[in-house]
Amino acid sequence: MTFDPETTTFLIAGPVRIHPRVLRAMSMPSLNHRGDYFHGIVAEIRELLPVLFAAKGHQLILSGSGTAGLEAVYSSLVPKEGRTLVLTNGNFGERTDQIVRRYSSSVTTLSAPWGQPISIDSVNSELAKGDVRAVCVVHNETSVGMANDLRSLAPAIRASGALFLVDGISAVAGIPMPIDEWGVDAVVAGSQKGLAAPAGLALVHLSDRAVAALHPGSFYLDLAAHLKSLEKNDTPWTPAVPLFLALREALLLLKEEGLENRLQKTHRLAEASRAAVDVLRLELYPDRRHASDTVTAVKNPTGMGDPEFRKVLEKQYNILVQGGQGALAGKIFRIGHMGIADWPDLLVTFAAIERILGKAGRLPTPGAALREVVERMP
Ligand code: PLP
Repeated sequence: MTFDPETTTFLIAGPVRIHPRVLRAMSMPSLNHRGDYFHGIVAEIRELLPVLFAAKGHQLILSGSGTAGLEAVYSSLVPKEGRTLVLTNGNFGERTDQIVRRYSSSVTTLSAPWGQPISIDSVNSELAKGDVRAVCVVHNETSVGMANDLRSLAPAIRASGALFLVDGISAVAGIPMPIDEWGVDAVVAGSQKGLAAPAGLALVHLSDRAVAALHPGSFYLDLAAHLKSLEKNDTPWTPAVPLFLALREALLLLKEEGLENRLQKTHRLAEASRAAVDVLRLELYPDRRHASDTVTAVKNPTGMGDPEFRKVLEKQYNILVQGGQGALAGKIFRIGHMGIADWPDLLVTFAAIERILGKAGRLPTPGAALREVVERMP
């Protein structure tokens, strides 16, 4: 078997596999983005977005990848006066820090080593100083396969009165996030992750408090301008029309499946992946208690780099998993199991991993990883 993008088992950490219904939805002639037909599509999307966020609020669709959503939120909400706290423990936390520093000169960064939890006590003691106006954190740190403990962070952030701004790009529709209960003010989702739509749209949820605090930042990504246009099911600039068509279909699919069912399936796929990794005697990269349900990050088998491991999966077995970023390149591999990823994807992937390890004389118990997956299937 050789790599074939049309038939590959596709388990990178996003973009994820796209359902044929969603792909077909994009095959339409050009539409007038200022006409009634397209406005009707935007209206439907707006009605469906609360299914994605499991909350009602001010919800926007921005043409641009997840980073566009982050830049929109930070440029419009990170206060010009007052301190912003940025929490980092991976590549995307560090990216947040870079973006926020473009828009504020008063930033405190609290960093944990990549893959390790952020100290709640340190966050609380920064908040206790009383001058923090916004806290920015990544819910699911895709680069290291870990979920940050927003539930524990939330009470002190809420009590401090700071805006709670969350990068939910690889968490939304994959990891539960009770937005209202936690008092989150802004959440950014990416179309290409748990929602399983094509890459290129950012979805943003804002609380009433966040809308009241909006100030001009980026011109193109001005959230106030986008909100105003959306009232008429319109966009300030030309939207990525085919992606909106795909978005509507992906949201309909999510509604049919049910958000709760998708979250539960994602969790069970993650549990099966972790159990399979254990019996292969491989090691998770992040602190196990915080391992992500959307992305399982695993240290490469000792002595096997990408050419001996991940590239064999790709070239010989037509299976795509993702490598490490930055300092972790060649050191870890990441299995994305969000969106419409399913049991057959995991079975094929762990079968091939067993075969590669077996050929290298490194497979502890043949069939054990597959059994861990099979036993967790519904
Ligand atoms: N934040 C997180 C947590 C991500 O996983 C990603 C992409 O993987 C990004 C930000 C950047 O999103 P995009 O590449 O869609 O701009």
